[in-house]
Amino acid sequence: MKRIFAAIKSGLHWQIAIGMAFGIAIGAFAREAGVGYWVTDYVAVLGTLFLRALRMVIVPLIVASMISGITGIASGKDFGRLSLKTAGYYVGTSLAAILTGLILVNLIKPGIGAPLLLQQTPEDLAERAATVGDTLLRIIPTNPLKSMIDGDILPVIFFSLLFGFFVTRTAESYRIRLTEWFQALFEVMMRLTQFIIRFAPIGIFALIAEIVAETGFSAFPPLAAYMATVITGLAFHAFITLPLLLILIGKISPWKLFKAMSPSLLTSFSTASSSATLPVTMDCAENRAGISNKVTSFVLPLGATINMDGTALYECVAAMFIAQAYGIEITLLQQGIIVLTALLASIGAAAIPMAGLVMMTIILKAVGLPLEGIGLLLAVDRVLDMMRTSVNNWSDSSGTAIVAKTEGEDQLSVLFAKDKPI
Ligand code: ASP
Repeated sequence: MKRIFAAIKSGLHWQIAIGMAFGIAIGAFAREAGVGYWVTDYVAVLGTLFLRALRMVIVPLIVASMISGITGIASGKDFGRLSLKTAGYYVGTSLAAILTGLILVNLIKPGIGAPLLLQQTPEDLAERAATVGDTLLRIIPTNPLKSMIDGDILPVIFFSLLFGFFVTRTAESYRIRLTEWFQALFEVMMRLTQFIIRFAPIGIFALIAEIVAETGFSAFPPLAAYMATVITGLAFHAFITLPLLLILIGKISPWKLFKAMSPSLLTSFSTASSSATLPVTMDCAENRAGISNKVTSFVLPLGATINMDGTALYECVAAMFIAQAYGIEITLLQQGIIVLTALLASIGAAAIPMAGLVMMTIILKAVGLPLEGIGLLLAVDRVLDMMRTSVNNWSDSSGTAIVAKTEGEDQLSVLFAKDKPI
């Protein structure tokens, strides 16, 4: 008993898991007892406060971390190699995830005979889907300060990357002064982040209680086959594909990395937002897994915004599901188009809740499927969003560890041997 208490006291992931369990219990109880409003009106405030606190640190943390990280990558050659490895990992794992989904959806065929629930697609969903081209163009900010103020992450990353790179190209006295300044800023932001993370168990308890009290579980049965297909695909990717990469390329124990990253994985599950989770992910990667700031500061912010394996898999399964439910034949060529657009949609999707659902319109349009089909997916989107966001995060975390290890960070093998709680 004493040991259990000690584990809970020192293990943030246990505290978060307990918060989640309480959240489910209280949310379900309040819903059953007809006092769900009590949770959504009052308890939910704690979740909102936690999310706001996380969002508060995102922009300064990214700017400080990227600039201080890039200044550590001395030469342009190192930078090029790191970018290539990272991009290769992002595209490779996203494609693997999509193909897993495609095979499963063809085998299980969850859409055949699925009830066409008469749900309307909210009109603004189609309008909100920016085209992938738009997202790519917007990487270059016309005004970096405005992007920071708007919390527009990709342009902020782009500007910070360039800024950090050119700090290393200035005269020594400037370089030292600026590097030290951004390192100091990064230290402060990291400590502030760690302080916020201490409240994660309470914040996550409230977020989960709110979701359960609001949506309950009644929407699940009619869409059980569809959910099972997405969840099986996500599980395959998370527990087989990515661990194989960790073992074969990184020579890293997936289990130990999983344990080190667990507070962050649980946070992405509860918030369904890769960007809100980013501060927690950076903290876990550096302080629990021992990966250098040089690599985490480059791979994680970019990964949170553009590397979304779970979303890519989901996009593919959902599009095929809609085609099956409407009895529309999808040719091999169309399946190829779905694979490609699912990859682009996952890159373009914002790292916020429901972004994947919004991007579905791009795929449906590309292969001529009815946009109302999105209405079919709405009822169970939240829970699938939570799962795909965790897989998105797990892929970013694995990628960071793999890139770090191939960059010669051998301390990882040692550090992974003993689990350092925060
Ligand atoms: N919520 C996901 C994320 O933040 C994106 C999605 O909706 O698929 O990673």
